Amino acid sequence: MTDFDLLVIGAGSGGVRAARVAAAHGAKVAVAEEFRVGGTCVIRGCVPKKLLVYGAHFAEDIDDAAMFGWDLPSKRFDWPVLRDNVLAEVGRLEDAYADMLTNHQVEIIPERATLAGPNAVTLASGKTVTAGKILIATGARPLMPEIPGIEHAISSNEVFNLEKLPKRIVIAGGGYIANEFAGIFHQFGCRVTLVNRTETMLRSYDQQLVDRLLQISMSKGIHFEFNSTFTSIEKRDDGSLKLTMDGCDDMEANAVLFAVGRQPNVEGLGCEAAGVAIGDKGEIKVDADNRTSVPSIFAVGDVTDRVQLTPVAIREGQAFADAFFGNTPTRVEYGCIPSAVFSHPPLAGVGMTEGVARNTLGSVKVFTSDFRAMKNVLAGRNERSLYKLVLDGETDQVVGVHMIGPDAPEILQAAAIAVKAKLKKSDFDAVVALHPTMAEELVLMR
Ligand code: FAD
Repeated sequence: MTDFDLLVIGAGSGGVRAARVAAAHGAKVAVAEEFRVGGTCVIRGCVPKKLLVYGAHFAEDIDDAAMFGWDLPSKRFDWPVLRDNVLAEVGRLEDAYADMLTNHQVEIIPERATLAGPNAVTLASGKTVTAGKILIATGARPLMPEIPGIEHAISSNEVFNLEKLPKRIVIAGGGYIANEFAGIFHQFGCRVTLVNRTETMLRSYDQQLVDRLLQISMSKGIHFEFNSTFTSIEKRDDGSLKLTMDGCDDMEANAVLFAVGRQPNVEGLGCEAAGVAIGDKGEIKVDADNRTSVPSIFAVGDVTDRVQLTPVAIREGQAFADAFFGNTPTRVEYGCIPSAVFSHPPLAGVGMTEGVARNTLGSVKVFTSDFRAMKNVLAGRNERSLYKLVLDGETDQVVGVHMIGPDAPEILQAAAIAVKAKLKKSDFDAVVALHPTMAEELVLMR
């Protein structure tokens, strides 16, 4: 006899879904959470980030409004107003998630939990709780390099709570989080410099579109330094930061944000003692059924470092619960996962990039549409969109869709259905355009 059928460690995207669904299947479930219910996505990830992206976009919308006949008083941005509204919304969502779990009879244990054996965890209070199955859903945390003065830098954990906007911010990283915050802070009027260790940004995205983002970002005034790293960070008496660099000139800033990767949360979790195997990158190793090297212990989400995205963690949590508590063997398919960078403008993609297709397939056909959105033309905004279809040259199957431009992520979600369904270019061509839209370019490429 155990206390619970399932004990989940971590109430984030994957853990909450697994707990709720397992409970709905009739299991007795508890979830231990050391910080806040909702996890990274809700508390300090996707949700507050996207709300800041919306807030940032008004800067350009207000500028563009003049050509559409709107005479607005001069714009002034109040960071504390947006910050506090976003934090309040996050608090509302946290309560909603906690209520949802409680309504499904999931017991929330607001404590850190560590593994104490194949069927037991120890809580921070010292109590031991037993369960038939344990699910590790502890997520990941920002990776901070070990350089002198790193304590003066912030990560995405702190960025949503800034007391005031930094006049000059330096962002380290070349991934989606770094690029998104570069856009956000730039739109808020900060001077932004993005520093990347290599010369390639957004590695998994189609590089022709990444080049377009770089060109637009630079023309807007975001500064980039490539092949550069930080040697040290020094805080001056006036509060400003002196950044000693390798690969580019030293810099001065009021804040430095590190977004250089995320590390699976396994430290101090008791994996070794419990016999749970860890991989080279510090991730928990699992099989296709999310089972670790210990038969009663499972893991889902970022801690397994497969695809670190919320919808993937949710699917893994759902598959685990359905398979082991709903009697429905389910596995997650990792092909064709759409993803986006909520930059200004946003970029999104699904399936093979042109580069991957050329390295993987015998022959490849590429169709592109390089255009200026109607709204941008009237606004006098010199920002071109780029859409790309990547085809298997033998079969004409569309194996990748990539786009940069206004609302690209919204449009791409629908296009991803076509790629997942293995549709051909002729299927796209057979669809009548919906005019006038930007998305119509998808069916007009010849
Ligand atoms: P998490 O959501 O991180 O949840 C893990 C939970 O476990 C946390 O609440 C943590 O406090 C808790 N925990 C850890 N250790 C313990 C312990 N020992 N005991 C008890 N509790 C513990 N993804 C997208 O799909 N789209 C986006 O736009 C997007 N934007 C992002 C922006 C930022 C700034 C960041 C940082 C991430 C973003 N992500 C985005 C990624 C997304 O947030 C993660 O992929 C997702 O949250 C992973 O879910 P998870 O369940 O694996 O872990």
